[in-house]
Amino acid sequence: MVRTLCPYCGVGCGLEVVEGRVRGDRAHPSNQGMVCVKGATLMEAIDRDRLHTPMARARLDAPFRPISWETALGMLVDRLRTTLAEYGPEGICLYGSGQFLTEDYYVAQKLMKGCLGSNSFDANSRLCMSSSVSGYVQSFGADGPPCTYDDLEATDCAFVIGANAAECHPIVFNRLLRQRRANPAMRIVVVDPRPTETARQADLHLPIRPGTDIDLAHGIAHLLLRWDRLDRRFLEAHTSGFEAFAATVAHYPPETVARRCGITVDALEAVARLWAESGRVLTLWSMGINQSSEGTAKVRALINLHLLTGQIGKPGAGPFSLTGQPNAMGGREAGGLSHLLPGYRFIADAGHRAQVEAHWGLAPGSIAPQRGRTVWEMIEGLEAGEVGLFWVAATNPAVSLPDLERVRAALLRSPFTVVQDAYYPTETAEFAHLLLPAAQWGEKTGTMTNSERMVTLCQAFRDPPGEARPDWQIFAEVGRRLGFAAQFPWGSAAEVFDEYKALTGGRPCDMSGLDHALLAAGPRRWPSPAGGEADARLYTDLRFATPDGRARFAACHSRGLAEPPDDGYPFVLTTGRLYGHWHTQTRTGRIEKIRKLHPHPFIEIHPRDAAKLDLSEGEAVEVRSRRGVARFPARITAGIAPGVLFVPMHWGSLWAENAEANALTHPIACPDSGEPELKACAVALRRVSGA
Ligand code: SF4
Repeated sequence: MVRTLCPYCGVGCGLEVVEGRVRGDRAHPSNQGMVCVKGATLMEAIDRDRLHTPMARARLDAPFRPISWETALGMLVDRLRTTLAEYGPEGICLYGSGQFLTEDYYVAQKLMKGCLGSNSFDANSRLCMSSSVSGYVQSFGADGPPCTYDDLEATDCAFVIGANAAECHPIVFNRLLRQRRANPAMRIVVVDPRPTETARQADLHLPIRPGTDIDLAHGIAHLLLRWDRLDRRFLEAHTSGFEAFAATVAHYPPETVARRCGITVDALEAVARLWAESGRVLTLWSMGINQSSEGTAKVRALINLHLLTGQIGKPGAGPFSLTGQPNAMGGREAGGLSHLLPGYRFIADAGHRAQVEAHWGLAPGSIAPQRGRTVWEMIEGLEAGEVGLFWVAATNPAVSLPDLERVRAALLRSPFTVVQDAYYPTETAEFAHLLLPAAQWGEKTGTMTNSERMVTLCQAFRDPPGEARPDWQIFAEVGRRLGFAAQFPWGSAAEVFDEYKALTGGRPCDMSGLDHALLAAGPRRWPSPAGGEADARLYTDLRFATPDGRARFAACHSRGLAEPPDDGYPFVLTTGRLYGHWHTQTRTGRIEKIRKLHPHPFIEIHPRDAAKLDLSEGEAVEVRSRRGVARFPARITAGIAPGVLFVPMHWGSLWAENAEANALTHPIACPDSGEPELKACAVALRRVSGA
């Protein structure tokens, strides 16, 4: 029996693999033996459509030909050298993934930021969690969800906003429902424009208009101030910026907020009363908050409510982001975004750069002082002819980025694209010059951190197929061939972890007390300092990671959607996930049971809107935005508000024709986090007669 972690969502369920079969690990504290359909069917995709050998081609219209690793690595190293000479370090971009192990992340960025001098190593967490990262950093002085899953079973009131946890984080939601069964007085409030499966289970559902989350949060704060239901002792001793915040929320009286959000004043007051009267409030959010042009401000508006009421640092309370990817958290800790360095350090901080350079045995100044490109800036760099080498690993940007027509055109301009993946074909592989076969889950050992900061050792239980290699080994071999043998000396992932963890000592995400041998006995939550104990929750001493130890209120106004509906594009299109599928279907599209569960894409439309278009159930509807067009069979349902549409984001060109949600979405991003507003754009509809 081998213990590992589910490689899908950020819930991070522990798994046991016994004789080729997967089951939930009862000893894992995060899931306590439970798994959802994705975890349960994992083994079915493990051998399907695998990339077995490196392949290359000179032009994108030529067929791939298999090559040896020796040839592939030689080609890549030559190309890195010529790109460095012609474009400079920032002409090299690496786009990685929350599917990486922490060890993969660490080695990739040591190669990029340390040895090649390019900070342009970003990951798909940029599309997923970066608004939470910047929200936590701005409010608390450091990233890191303060809560644990035990808080799900200790709360009086769960305030779930912008998260369809029942489908996207099912085991977390199961634990929340378990708490309500045990404590019937406990309340679940769900804020979502759609009556999702999560909303159907709620005691109170607020179907706010898309883009009005900050209005709602400020409206609740306004009422709490009016009713004087604040924790004044906490405010005075542990926060800063209250006056500016109070002046801001004075502009959000209930009538105004109710009108903007499309809810009643009674509903607003009901939720504010729950905030006022509940002993322990836990806020849970995910992409509906993060994927926004004001994502950081939304996160901070939610944190404001916790600061106002002192709902933090105690059981059952706190602001808790639910991570999308299985190891987005590990990436954040290991510096897996283009503005970060390992151990929750920042590129912009000269002291942090010097610490990491010293640890890596590199000369002072090796790490460039300016942040690297976000993934969207990589696309813009390709458009501008400033990027000469684009390296994609374990992710599928030709489906997952917004404004796909523009992305494809940029990828066609790329002088040299490397795609490193376990699977072939993928939509992004169509744009590759060089394909590198990667080992996947179960074929490499390393660690992942889930949403509650639980670090789990994911143990290999089989060899990679063909010539596939672990991602960290590929990055390390490239580094050695570039002349950095001393920087990439490891013989195992355990040695990589040992080097990495030393960089976390004394940092907020301290895991210097962990190693692979210890984790083989069971997962551990950070902080785990060497030779010491730490509280499971962060900020139990109410001292925050800011210079003055106080959490900061944010005084930001709501700006609403970046692309509101208008006469030409009168509908708001929202996008999201389904229970069975994962991201761009690279795994789940290859699993029969999940394909049966969700056989085809669709668009949800309200009966009133369908009637105006004379549209029947299942008929094709053409959806057009300012950027692109797609077609979907109509699913007519009163489960969506008039004027709002929903399309799942899972279907790329491999799985359906012309049904890509991101053909329609726009790249306008949060100015603080760089996270695009994948959740909403303005579209027009047309019935496709006869289809
Ligand atoms: Fe995997 Fe997430 Fe399902 Fe758990 S809830 S089994 S981590 S997909």
